[in-house]
Amino acid sequence: MSTRDLFALQALDLDCDAEREAMAGIEARLGPSEAVAALQGELAQAQARLAATEKQLRDSEWQIEDLEVKIKALEQKLYGGTVRNPKELAGLQAETQQFQQQRAAADDLALHLMEEADALKATMSALSAQAQALEAEWRREQGALRAEQSQRQARLQSLEAQRQTSASRISPSSLALYEFLRPRKAGRAVARVEGGTCSGCRISLPMKDLQQARLGQEPVQCSSCERILFVS
Ligand SMILES: [Zn+2]
Repeated sequence: MSTRDLFALQALDLDCDAEREAMAGIEARLGPSEAVAALQGELAQAQARLAATEKQLRDSEWQIEDLEVKIKALEQKLYGGTVRNPKELAGLQAETQQFQQQRAAADDLALHLMEEADALKATMSALSAQAQALEAEWRREQGALRAEQSQRQARLQSLEAQRQTSASRISPSSLALYEFLRPRKAGRAVARVEGGTCSGCRISLPMKDLQQARLGQEPVQCSSCERILFVS
């Protein structure tokens, strides 16, 4: 066992950490697309508005037919020659005019509803095209993410196997110290010694610690940050 083994173990652990973090990122991005769902929601709303508009339009067309029948009947009475009383004729005239006004208003409404239905159909086809494009993009992205996920999974498995081999070369007490320090030092329990200083905390190391660390046999901890010192 040497501190070199500990340093190598740490490198493997850091690689494993990076793979796990990347995989968590992928995991978070896998799943249904919110943007596609939002567009589909808008599409459903437009569809419901179109159905309501088309129903109003049918009602309005029935009303027009109904008014036409009434107007025709009144005109037959007016011009058929059966009614001769001027007062009655004036009454029929007024009634006809009233229905004709109603019919004009119903025509306006029907025209307005037709325009509204056309606008809704145009909106729907634009939304549908947008949703299709987004969905295709989402499928491509999900496919790429799944491919990356399986690559990373395989790499992580291989790293974990290497890690196990690497850890088996280290004495239980050194391994225990390493495992104790690792979570407390943001994954870096071993610090390289550079120019007589600890790279973990930048303190100048006492000669005694340096000499001990240079032997590279038993773990020597930095007196300041407690990391295991490694001299390469
Ligand atoms: Zn230190």
